[in-house]
Amino acid sequence: MTASQPGDNTIEKTVIIGSGPAAWTAAVYAARANLNPLVFEGGITSGSEMIPGGQLMFTTEVENYPGFPQGIDGPELMQAFRQQAERFETRIKTRNIIECDFSKRPFVLKDDQAEETRAHTVIVATGASANWLGLESEQHFRKAGLGVTACATCDGAFPRFRNKPVAVIGGGDSAVEEASFMTKFAKPVYIVHRREELRASKIMQQRALSNEHIQVLWNSTVEEVLGDDEKGVTGIRLKDTKSGESRVVEVAGVFLAIGHTPNTAFLGGQLDTDDKGYLKLTDNYRTFTKIPGVFAAGDVVDSVYRQAITAAGMGCKAAIDAERWLAEQGIE
Ligand SMILES: Cc1cc2nc3c(=O)[nH]c(=O)nc-3n(C[C@H](O)[C@H](O)[C@H](O)COP(=O)(O)OP(=O)(O)OC[C@H]3O[C@@H](n4cnc5c(N)ncnc54)[C@H](O)[C@@H]3O)c2cc1C
Repeated sequence: MTASQPGDNTIEKTVIIGSGPAAWTAAVYAARANLNPLVFEGGITSGSEMIPGGQLMFTTEVENYPGFPQGIDGPELMQAFRQQAERFETRIKTRNIIECDFSKRPFVLKDDQAEETRAHTVIVATGASANWLGLESEQHFRKAGLGVTACATCDGAFPRFRNKPVAVIGGGDSAVEEASFMTKFAKPVYIVHRREELRASKIMQQRALSNEHIQVLWNSTVEEVLGDDEKGVTGIRLKDTKSGESRVVEVAGVFLAIGHTPNTAFLGGQLDTDDKGYLKLTDNYRTFTKIPGVFAAGDVVDSVYRQAITAAGMGCKAAIDAERWLAEQGIE
């Protein structure tokens, strides 16, 4: 069966939008519950190529996903997720959904090939994208897995940072949390902040400022990440926002903590979001959004945990919620 075309009568029971741990886990559960799911595995585009698979496609080693005692490469893990969904005959379209209409039933979804798909239930698992500074050097070391990352919880324990100085970029709660976490491994931990006051809550600020291993570099922006392809990151060149002067600080790692942008633009504001742009669920335990039949899972709703295992767990919940909702509506 293929996705519905304009004019045909196919109505999908469940469409899943996304291609990370939440989407593939939802697909495995939905397929095994006979919902015959259709996944729109979108991704970011690099040149003319689309790269689905979510955030783990851009990391090297994943050491904390249960079941892999020796760790596993991010892209390899995502390939395994996808293959498991395919094993239960999940149908897959490598396309981004660009518009949704949740005002009528069945829901109508439009993809980037201008095809429309109609569905009784939709699971939104489109993740969130880490915000980057946008420096060429930052992206070089990030892509090469050589010391620039946006996830301290994920990558902070790597040997390359042990007992070495590292920099956390940002000034909000996440930056302070990441910096406190990094003091378990690296010393000193610099927080590089462009202002002379942190944006983090008072209690978080106190925690950071009283930690002897954390040093805040005020009024500073990163001009360049320094290093080479052999050693990886060796330092950052900072600019003082007041005096305009530049200086080099030696670090072995750079952790971006300047927020994430949940991937929700294609929803056109039909679902509620919190003040950071994450989708709101109707309660903490289930995956219902305010529109019955539309469920959401993974980083697109989660500004707190943002891990592959939590995203996968929510994907499982969303598929079970969708299955039960369809049964309650008497949709076979
Ligand atoms: C550098 C880095 C390292 C990390 N390392 C780890 C780690 O070691 N361990 C760990 O547990 N977690 C790690 N994480 C966090 C982990 O990657 C995320 O928590 C997890 O991927 C979230 O899964 P998700 O399914 O919610 O979304 P994502 O993985 O973000 O996947 C969502 C996908 O949906 C696609 N999409 C978006 N919009 C659309 C649309 N309109 N139509 C179709 N598709 C769309 C996106 O392009 C993306 O490919 C890391 C994150 C980063 C950034």
